[in-house]
Amino acid sequence: MFATQNENKVNEIKHLIGLNHQLITLFDLKFDEELNESSMLLEENALEKANFIYHKFRINCFSEDTGLEIEALNEAPGAMSARYAGEQKTAEKNIEKVLMEMNNHQNRNARFRTVIALVIEGKEFLYEGVIKGKICLTKQGSGGFGYDPIFQPDGYTKTFAEMTIEEKSTISHRTIAFSKMKEFLQSEFAE
Ligand code: IMP
Repeated sequence: MFATQNENKVNEIKHLIGLNHQLITLFDLKFDEELNESSMLLEENALEKANFIYHKFRINCFSEDTGLEIEALNEAPGAMSARYAGEQKTAEKNIEKVLMEMNNHQNRNARFRTVIALVIEGKEFLYEGVIKGKICLTKQGSGGFGYDPIFQPDGYTKTFAEMTIEEKSTISHRTIAFSKMKEFLQSEFAE
């Protein structure tokens, strides 16, 4: 089970999981309480969410936390990415704040970092995925979600928001972390 309430993340992971497996999420369990993310570390937040759901439902599960880490802002917004512009958590406002803070910075280097926490029978495993890129001067594209319109991966001329979900999923931070977990699960549990 993917312990998340974020439909965009569910869609991306569904793309990766293939037709032989079914992805169950918190939507299927009709669980809509907000999950706590009380740490400044992606690792701890991912573990907090996965452990909470594991202990509540006794279902093996994974959760993930993602942050945009910008070099010129000392790796901010990082674990604060979701509520960078305040508790209302709008992508629009978060992007505006990043672009404003980046106003006078020549160094536009940034990276997306995803940490997946997997909890199986109470045992914890962590997988990390990182993609490096640049923060654009303005928003570009209407696809994706979150900070996608202002993030252009290195080696590409499009932002994540200008890519199809397939293109983004070929290279994304989330895909890298998920592939590591998939490899582990296949090596442990494949018949
Ligand atoms: P969280 O992992 O749900 O806490 O998300 C952190 C913040 O980063 C939220 O504002 C998300 O919209 C944003 N975010 C997470 N993953 C991505 C992504 O793949 N692209 C762009 N923004 C993302």
